[in-house]
Amino acid sequence: MISTVFGPINSRRFGTSLGVDLSPNLKQCNFDCLYCELGGERHRVNHQVDPIVSSKILVEIEDSLKKFKDVDVLTFTANGEPTLYSDLDNLIIRVNRIKSQYGIKTLILSNSGNIWFPEIKKSLLKFDKVKLSLDCATEDCFQKMDRPMKGIDVEAIKNGILDFSREYRGELYIEILFLENINANEAEIAELNRFLLTLPKLFRVDIGTVERPPAYDVQPVNYSKLFRISHLFDSSLPILITKHQEKKGVKNHLTKSELLHTIKLRPLTHYDIASLFDLATGENLNLLIAEKMIETKVVGGIEFYIPTHHIKDRIL
Ligand code: SF4
Repeated sequence: MISTVFGPINSRRFGTSLGVDLSPNLKQCNFDCLYCELGGERHRVNHQVDPIVSSKILVEIEDSLKKFKDVDVLTFTANGEPTLYSDLDNLIIRVNRIKSQYGIKTLILSNSGNIWFPEIKKSLLKFDKVKLSLDCATEDCFQKMDRPMKGIDVEAIKNGILDFSREYRGELYIEILFLENINANEAEIAELNRFLLTLPKLFRVDIGTVERPPAYDVQPVNYSKLFRISHLFDSSLPILITKHQEKKGVKNHLTKSELLHTIKLRPLTHYDIASLFDLATGENLNLLIAEKMIETKVVGGIEFYIPTHHIKDRIL
């Protein structure tokens, strides 16, 4: 029998995470995304077959939490989509009863395909953190990239996310995965941007690309392009680039004023600067910090470099 609990793993985005896979034996999903790392599966389902009883999962969770003392977050995921697990509501209610004694938060990673169902929304509202995927804001793109079951459309998903965000009191994350020739274009990004700006409360928007072997023949976007994409979103959105592959070859150099200008347009993390720019740019960053032109601010649980208050509104 395969255990449902895995890890803990250290994640920059969520801290030390203990995973709970609600479908450990079999991929069960209502999407068939081009980029899926679990392999292609044209047979999509809207509920899990042979779900594991929640009391067994709870025992495994408690055993692991007793063993691993430094866990920050219990992450509910699945070999597929976790909201297809029929006893999710009961499970999260029972986990919420015990979580305070272990000092942990709960997180669920969902593809958003079921967010518009009232009973799914009710369950997701019980998590401390919810990460919802939204790769496309238009129907054509959504059907092409995420290939949902019949009956799931992107307008229902967007309405479901908006409705959820109005009620939710926890940390709401949106994740967008970009693929060349699919959704990494200005028109699609403009639609995504327009939608994200309607959400009343958003903790963070994570943007990335495929990093492990995908199910189908798709192309990732490179880091420089992700960086350019991040600038196409409104600067009020808390965007985090999640891909941090070292750029091969000669890295770009920014002078102090160029770096300050860039950071004014889009706050950067330490990883962004190390990935995109040369060592001399890193030294310019240190000079700007010493001169109190740049400071750090934690947004969405991640430390960003931002312009200090007194220069924020000056034209650079
Ligand atoms: S939602 Fe996740 S598990 Fe399902 S097909 Fe897409 S990438 Fe794979």
